[in-house]
Amino acid sequence: MTDHYETIQQKLIAHIRALAEDIGPRGPTLPEEQQAAQYAYDQLKAQGYQPKTETFKSATSIYHPHMITALLLLIAFLIYPLGGRITAAIAAGLSLLALVSDILELGFINNPLRMVIPKGTSQNVLATLDPEDEHRQDLILVGHLDSHQTGIIFSSNKWVAFFQAFTTIGFVTFSAQVVFFMIGIVTQWGWLWYASIPSAVSAVILFAICWEANRAPFSPGANDNASAVAMVLTLAETLKNQPLQHTRIWFVLTGCEEVQHYGMIDFLNRHKNAFVNPKVLVFEMVGVAGPAWETKEGIIVPFKPDQGLVQIVENIAKAHPDLGAYPSFINGGNSEMADARRAGLPAICFFGLTPEGQAPFWHQTADTADKIDPDVIGRTYAFTRNFISLIDQQS
Ligand SMILES: [Zn+2]
Repeated sequence: MTDHYETIQQKLIAHIRALAEDIGPRGPTLPEEQQAAQYAYDQLKAQGYQPKTETFKSATSIYHPHMITALLLLIAFLIYPLGGRITAAIAAGLSLLALVSDILELGFINNPLRMVIPKGTSQNVLATLDPEDEHRQDLILVGHLDSHQTGIIFSSNKWVAFFQAFTTIGFVTFSAQVVFFMIGIVTQWGWLWYASIPSAVSAVILFAICWEANRAPFSPGANDNASAVAMVLTLAETLKNQPLQHTRIWFVLTGCEEVQHYGMIDFLNRHKNAFVNPKVLVFEMVGVAGPAWETKEGIIVPFKPDQGLVQIVENIAKAHPDLGAYPSFINGGNSEMADARRAGLPAICFFGLTPEGQAPFWHQTADTADKIDPDVIGRTYAFTRNFISLIDQQS
């Protein structure tokens, strides 16, 4: 490793301060998110790159679709018993529409809910670095610019655990409502409506959770995810003077990750056909815990990293015990790795989870730059540098 370790740590921290303190909370599609994109653009330009800004339309809140789902399920519950088979059929249809749309939403797939929610404009910033020798593969490094709202569900580990359990309970009870109402169209059994009360209660809870979170202020987002932007920008600066042999690197800073990844999805749609033998490395919350790589993620719909890339990081962790890297996983959360996997690309996420799977200061007002541990982010950088070298050597 030729990079001077302490200088690297200082650069990483300086980027995090600029984003989380000077710009501050960076809500998706809001002016502060655009300022963060401009910061990334200016940094890459100053490093000698020719960065590009690409704009796209996005939802403005992750909560809007789920609030509509909850309302549709509640309306269905209320009208089911009013008029025999006819209202049973309407209620079953509405419930099915709501459930299927929400599952598609959780799977990042276009659905009827997206036709009615408010939209805004956001942007990605990207730059590429060509290899010195023959171009044999692409490595895409990703970190998101925006930050999330600090709803009560993120305020403590207990609330997060409740929310993660609730997503499963909600899914099961909503599915039961659909099945019960469909049976009710034919049988008109009286108990079916009472058996759907847990679903109605879940819908009220879901609506309340989303309504509260949607009104909460945005997080300063030092760990989530200025730490990742800092990682990508610092790697861009270092690699500019040490290009790889056969690997073209993409430095990608995305918008609207916190609203179902509209930025990453836009980037992949525009560029995936230009990739040569691509590999994707996503950074999430790398400033407080880790280095860690994800073995699994997802909300209801699970996503897993590419096993070949997992093998590489396991080998690095074994060869460099001093870096203290370990595997972890998250339930009830997603990274942009999911988008790369859905696009059929080999991908992995370096996600600074604790070994128990907790994400420090996740969507909290306490996610400030003073919480960043220079040792953790420094080791994550060193771990990543090893990963990039190995990927290039294997090409
Ligand atoms: Zn994040």
